[in-house]
Amino acid sequence: MTERSLNSGTDATVLVCDDDPTYLLLMEETLSSDNLNVLTAANGAEALKLYLKHKPHIVLLDVHMPMLSGFEVCAEIRKHPQGKDTPILMVTGADDIFSIESAYKHGATDFLPKPIRWPMVAHRVRYMLKGSETFNSLKKSEEKMRHLAYFDSLTGLPNRQSLDESLEKEIQLAAKEEQNLCIMYIDLDNFKRINDTLGHEFGDKLLKKISEKILQCVKGKAFTPDAMDSITQIEVSRLGGDEFMIMVNNNPNDNDVKVVAQSLVNCISELISIDDYEVALTPSIGIAMYPRDGVNLTELKKHADVAMYYAKTMGRNGYRFYAESLNENAMKFLQIEGCLRNALNNDEFSLHYQPQVCLKKNKIISVEALLRWDSPELGNVMPSEFIPVAEDSGIINELGEWVMRTACDQAKKWMDAGLQDFKVSVNISSIQFKRASLLNMIKRALDDSGLPASLLEVELTESAIMNDIDHNISRLNQIREMGVGIALDDFGTGYSSLSYLKRFPINTLKIDRSFIINIDSNYEDAAIVEAIIALANTLKLTVVAEGVETHGQLKALNRFQCDIIQGYYFSKPVPTDQIIELMQKPLIKALVEGI
Ligand code: C2E
Ligand code: MG
Ligand code: MG
Repeated sequence: MTERSLNSGTDATVLVCDDDPTYLLLMEETLSSDNLNVLTAANGAEALKLYLKHKPHIVLLDVHMPMLSGFEVCAEIRKHPQGKDTPILMVTGADDIFSIESAYKHGATDFLPKPIRWPMVAHRVRYMLKGSETFNSLKKSEEKMRHLAYFDSLTGLPNRQSLDESLEKEIQLAAKEEQNLCIMYIDLDNFKRINDTLGHEFGDKLLKKISEKILQCVKGKAFTPDAMDSITQIEVSRLGGDEFMIMVNNNPNDNDVKVVAQSLVNCISELISIDDYEVALTPSIGIAMYPRDGVNLTELKKHADVAMYYAKTMGRNGYRFYAESLNENAMKFLQIEGCLRNALNNDEFSLHYQPQVCLKKNKIISVEALLRWDSPELGNVMPSEFIPVAEDSGIINELGEWVMRTACDQAKKWMDAGLQDFKVSVNISSIQFKRASLLNMIKRALDDSGLPASLLEVELTESAIMNDIDHNISRLNQIREMGVGIALDDFGTGYSSLSYLKRFPINTLKIDRSFIINIDSNYEDAAIVEAIIALANTLKLTVVAEGVETHGQLKALNRFQCDIIQGYYFSKPVPTDQIIELMQKPLIKALVEGI
């Protein structure tokens, strides 16, 4: 049957083939008087030609013909894609049992016994047509349903269901042949953020492009010929969201897999332009090998997932093989992600404040707000553990706003309680810094709390501001124009480019703890810190030394004329109510005086 549909049946075309001209004529007469279009052929070759040209809805074939028999014509028609479902009636003697039996073998739909009962022929043809129409529409909807069940509608790639079924089969095959099998779990880094910022429609377009890129890549263009010899089959599927799975069959070894994974990383991280935007996305890929990393579907998928999370925690934009030792870390990441979703609504966060002590004034002049999470499921989780997860899932934006508001409200309360010029420092993640809405967010927090902008400082790390420098400088200037101070956090751990310092409109430099640790025992570290402080003084920047833990460190910093000290030596970060207490203690004064 062709794609043409038969609405009323009147436009149906019948092809009749018989070497007996009388019979052919009678058939033509009978069928066309019943409003059917009739094509006639006097031999098999002609019938095939007509079939291909006109694609009739039904074919009537005489069995016994010279040259090509009806059976042969029938078999030929069935070989064509369009001929698979065309009803074919074999016309043969009612007692020719042999012919009737072989008619089905050759793919006939039914037979029409001779002698022909002419008044019945047209009915019979219509009846067959009706049956085939119903069959075909059923088949079509079945195919459609199958497609829906097994393929992802956005990208057209096989879906999770489809993957599971073929993976199950491939595992059995690999087991039988004692071969390796590899699965790769691909997750796009920060996709959620792009989706949230630029909209779902944009996100969909992006996913489509990415799936095309993945397909192009695995089709082999990106691989070296050597690797292609051993990797003959790679299947791609989309598991949903921004997750894809690749299966490499045919006994790949670790090196083959590395080639594929690296090519995927390269392909996916190329710039993609959609509408007027250019987007750079990177993948994190987790790899699990059968039988080494798992002998069944569930195990392999779980371990590829674990490896993927490992790739994420190792800086993203790369691939990692599964190893048993990964389980713990990756499970933790997963757990944190799960618990983090409701943590803000459930009021599980609080801010602790760590004093910053001015050495000249002998007093606490400011505090840094540090986030604390007390999770009912996980207990106390430190920022170094949950901030990267919050960044990855986009929660950081909401969380960061909460931190900003809470810190501003608290600083205003301290101001109202009589603390003068008492500043609060708030950490801003690089993810927040990239958002255009950051300025408004800060402004709203200041307006709503009533805190003067001059009592707020934001802390940014070098890596947050070092990429798109010109754009970032203007962003920083906007923050400065609001009257808010800017501190460069963890200075020395990132690019450490002193030459840039001049260009950035910052107020404060926070020297990272790693330089302070050995300042009283390591000559080089001491020299570096001394130089940084001297440079900062020239640039009129305030210097904060982070992580001061000992009296020796304090002495050295005092000698180098460091302005401000922050660290456990004075105080750990403490809950809000302890700040006032700390300020009243003579302890700090004594400590500083004792230098
Ligand atoms: P950071 O901004 O450099 O904060 C200083 C970190 O050093 C804090 O760790 C603090 O508790 C710790 N610290 C201070 N003095 C000492 C010391 O003498 N010895 C030692 N060993 N550590 C000291 P914490 O609170 O675990 O925070 C770690 C990082 O997490 C922060 O580093 C900051 O980058 C990030 N973070 C914390 N709160 C927030 C937040 O509200 N938003 C964002 N985006 N990041 C935050
Ligand atoms: Mg900080
Ligand atoms: Mg720091």
